Amino acid sequence: ESAVAQLDKPVRSTEFPQTSKGLPESLAAFYGQNVFTLKKMQETLPKPIYQRFLQQTKGRGTIDKPTADAIAHAVRIWAQERGATHFTHWFQPQTDLTAEKHDSFLSLKSVVTANGEEVLPFDGFSGGQLLQSEPDASSFPSGGRRTTFEARGYTIWDPMSPMFLEEGPHGTTVLYIPCVFISYYGEALDEKTILLRSNEAVSRATVRVLHLIGETDVKKAYTTLGTEQEYFLVDRALYALRPDLKLTGRTLIGSVPPKHQQLEDHYFGRIPGKVLACVSEAELECWKLGVPLKTRHNEVAPSQFEVAPIFEESSQAVDHNLLTMMTLSRIAHRYSLQALFHEKPFKGVNGSGKHCNWAIATDLGDNLLDPTVRPETNYRFLLFLVGILRGVHLHAGVLRAGIASASNDMRLGANEAPPGIISAFLGEQLSEVLAAIYEGRDIKSFSVPSVQSVKVGGTVLDLKISTLPTVPRDLTDRNRTSPFAFTGNKFEFRAVGSHQNPSWPVTILNAIVSSALNDVADMLEKQKGSKATASVEDILTVVKALYKEHKAIIFEGDNYSAEWAAEAEKRGLPNIKKAVEAFQQLKDESHIKVLTKESGVFTADELTSRYHILLEKYIKDIHIEAGTLKLMITQGVLPASYEYRLALATTVKAVKDAGGDPSVEKAALDTIGEHLTKLQPLVKKLDEALAHLGDKHGDEEDHSKYAAYTVVPLMDEIRESADALEELVADKYWPYPKYHEILFGH
Ligand code: ADP
Ligand code: MG
Repeated sequence: ESAVAQLDKPVRSTEFPQTSKGLPESLAAFYGQNVFTLKKMQETLPKPIYQRFLQQTKGRGTIDKPTADAIAHAVRIWAQERGATHFTHWFQPQTDLTAEKHDSFLSLKSVVTANGEEVLPFDGFSGGQLLQSEPDASSFPSGGRRTTFEARGYTIWDPMSPMFLEEGPHGTTVLYIPCVFISYYGEALDEKTILLRSNEAVSRATVRVLHLIGETDVKKAYTTLGTEQEYFLVDRALYALRPDLKLTGRTLIGSVPPKHQQLEDHYFGRIPGKVLACVSEAELECWKLGVPLKTRHNEVAPSQFEVAPIFEESSQAVDHNLLTMMTLSRIAHRYSLQALFHEKPFKGVNGSGKHCNWAIATDLGDNLLDPTVRPETNYRFLLFLVGILRGVHLHAGVLRAGIASASNDMRLGANEAPPGIISAFLGEQLSEVLAAIYEGRDIKSFSVPSVQSVKVGGTVLDLKISTLPTVPRDLTDRNRTSPFAFTGNKFEFRAVGSHQNPSWPVTILNAIVSSALNDVADMLEKQKGSKATASVEDILTVVKALYKEHKAIIFEGDNYSAEWAAEAEKRGLPNIKKAVEAFQQLKDESHIKVLTKESGVFTADELTSRYHILLEKYIKDIHIEAGTLKLMITQGVLPASYEYRLALATTVKAVKDAGGDPSVEKAALDTIGEHLTKLQPLVKKLDEALAHLGDKHGDEEDHSKYAAYTVVPLMDEIRESADALEELVADKYWPYPKYHEILFGH
């Protein structure tokens, strides 16, 4: 452990003014130092080349060979001056992880000299190498669609995402080139291509709506994303002793200790020293990479934390979320810590999510989800709000599919996270605004008070302490239970899993919203008739009609309650409890139509292949968990229980031989025996389950159902026995670190 940590000592940059403690004097100056930004491009490229590049990124022109060669040359010089030896195409296959293959800048060429042919080394990086590379696609998930998806795959530079340098151990530095990953026929094999397409769909639909209401200056729109990332940090040595954490990311056994999170003393508590050191260093690394991390704090469960960035254009934000997770993992090793991104690493305590804060912005810099001070007369806002509600209402099922995985199943609906029912929370004021417009009555006075307008009704908080400033009340109170909540000027999609690439759920959200916005545009067109633009009346007519149709998706109460499940059923909202059911939504005709033809985000083949990849991944995840559980029970739990039983039996005999009363020891012996008797047939069943799941010839859908409805409950049952034994067996025999050791280590 420590040897590895030694090797991985950071190499501190000396390029920037530092404080005596080695921290940057100015974060702004330090930020993005390892990114080949537009500014750096402008400084290093000849003007016409830079102009050509800009045209390309605006979709007006292509990068020709001389341009690509010039950019490649400039970026290589920049990278090598900073110690880079290699470059890599960096892409996002459908594994929730990123992929990379490193190539050095070392090249050879033969020259003919007076002495004959000679091979000379040189440093090189061509435009061709920058633009495209060809990894073997058959080694990445493709949903078993080898017949249509050729093994050949290409990674292609996404010039909208800047290149950057990663500094590894010993100062090894690599130039990263963010890429899309597509098949020979241009089909998306990755998470980035679909997100870029979905952003274009949102852009087209948004511009259509805006032009219809007279905002013709807007030429483009994009979605913005801010990902609040929850994670656990635990001692790496203890982690290393838990096969389940290492192989599956979560504890498959382990009883909940008497103290866990019930005192509510961890959330926003003081960040433990070692954790703070680790997170600060990860932040420094992230800032160098241009990842705008902003917030850090303790989360609800012991050893659980969160980091959040400042939001960005969504494909940038996704790249940056993945970099954040990678960096946290890497830096944690330096502190002998392990970062856990699993949605539910520990039973009985809070799970981890990735809240995806999402909005739509225009190329003029406007956030279309900003209600401004008077939402009731902000017609543009109202149109987009009801448009989003329409998308979410009509396609709640497929949005649920976007967050479905074996690991998120442990969290969703587990009474501490958003349930399997997708609904939207708007807050008291917006709900009132929409309801009043619909009912054609006056709106209860609500406009957000400014600080000056102290004492306007109850909208300014009266703190009853004269020395504190008066603060205006937020537009919405918080609702922590809603899976999709409006929080001031953005929606917060909270049900997203902590470990997943956020691209897939955001892509689905974009696709369904773009389709709904196109419907909004159609309705506006019809209303306005021959007028140049839609009038206020036209807009309100559309808002009313859409509110009427979709108000069933709005829910302001406690999403964790049983009453809500009953109410949601009455409203016809799908309650999808398990991932295996959610995946079936990808076969629903109306969802398929929106994700393919209407939004142009997927081809039918791409969507089918995703369905297969998700199913396959689910089955494999459960298979690996079952195998790991088997290993831990047979190699750890049972032997420990046998040893303790032997000790008890020996004691019973010895006490009896000595003329004492061994009834206490005998009772303990019997209880252990009962649990072991219960466990034995379950382990046998687990063997059968493993054989069944491992059968390559079985039907995928049957397998996934078998995994969900037979294997998962079986594992739960086994866990019950194992956890009971953990509580009975003397500590010195127990082979695995316990929850109290892992969770209260800092
Ligand atoms: P809250 O505390 O309500 O969750 P924060 O201000 O802490 O709100 O923001 C949480 C996340 O939402 C941050 O990552 C922030 O950058 C992001 N965010 C704020 N505004 C937007 C927006 N317009 N679009 C996308 N994300 C946003
Ligand atoms: Mg939040």
